Amino acid sequence: PFDVLVVGGGPAGATAAIYAARKGIRTGVVAERFGGQALDTMGIENFASVPYTEGPKFAAELENHVRQYDVDIMNVQNATKLTPAVTEQGLVEIELASGARLLSRAVILSTGARWRSMNVPGETEYRNKGVTYCPHCDGPLFKGKRVAVIGGGNSGVEAAIDLAGIVAHVTLVEFDSQLRADDVLQRKLRSLPNVDILLGTQTTEVLGDGGKVTGLAYTDRTAGTSHTVDLDGVFVQIGLLPNTEWLSGTVDLTPRGEIVVDDHGRTSVPGVFAAGDCTTAPYKQIIVAAGTGATAALGAFDHLIRTSTP
Ligand code: FAD
Repeated sequence: PFDVLVVGGGPAGATAAIYAARKGIRTGVVAERFGGQALDTMGIENFASVPYTEGPKFAAELENHVRQYDVDIMNVQNATKLTPAVTEQGLVEIELASGARLLSRAVILSTGARWRSMNVPGETEYRNKGVTYCPHCDGPLFKGKRVAVIGGGNSGVEAAIDLAGIVAHVTLVEFDSQLRADDVLQRKLRSLPNVDILLGTQTTEVLGDGGKVTGLAYTDRTAGTSHTVDLDGVFVQIGLLPNTEWLSGTVDLTPRGEIVVDDHGRTSVPGVFAAGDCTTAPYKQIIVAAGTGATAALGAFDHLIRTSTP
């Protein structure tokens, strides 16, 4: 069996694997796609000490770094089931889609998350060409330009407030007849001079010139009329879905599906730790995912030295 088995090979899982392997313990990583969301990213400019890199290069470097250690990497493998250990010293079992069963004294879950998309024409075509899901990452790219934020929940309204300080103008688009964000955020948003709020509005298409975004088409749901607005960027903020469906009924999840972790990365199941975007750790960013990966690995190591038989 493994001492530490990491499920997920994004920044959180890769960092956890490095920290575990450096303790000289048997470490494995199971990943559906080693590199994680970084594989879908263009420029990365907010990882301290790396002023600029690109997602696929960053992902390759993550893997190279892990491969410097004696880590068993099982790429293109999907975990489908977790079975807790029967006793405190017992083994946690991870079942793969292939039918294989892996046993480990400690498991670190780092399966990440995916952005919910609008599913309208142009959204996929203009991804990274004006369509983005991450205001912290891409806000500065739209300095002085006009953008839309799709979604009037807390993340959409926070994004609109944040962007209003950087870009020329923000149009916030909400499907419902009212915003769902906290009152304090709504008040702040409405106080900003360069923000328009469209309620009861359904986005129907992301418009572009073949190379980049030029606007948005939408329907006024009350009047039934169709409109367009010219802009350079569309920030989609309609939800982040943790890749934790396969865990329901085992580790404690929040109603939004995030794995509940404490400050040592522990989950509700003994010997099972978690890190990164799939957890309740706030702020879904590479550097945060990496940091929580280190915490989970050190938490797991701490668990191993406390539960090993002398
Ligand atoms: P992920 O990167 O999502 O990795 C999850 C891993 O788990 C993957 O290897 C996946 O294949 C695997 N996995 C999932 N389910 C299973 C399963 N059942 N079995 C086995 N493996 C599984 N952040 C920044 O800091 N700066 C940026 O510039 C930036 N730009 C971004 C641009 C885009 C387009 C996107 C989508 C995100 C961006 N982010 C950026 C956010 C950042 O990518 C994430 O916060 C970070 O990747 C989270 O790391 P993670 O390891 O928790 O999860």
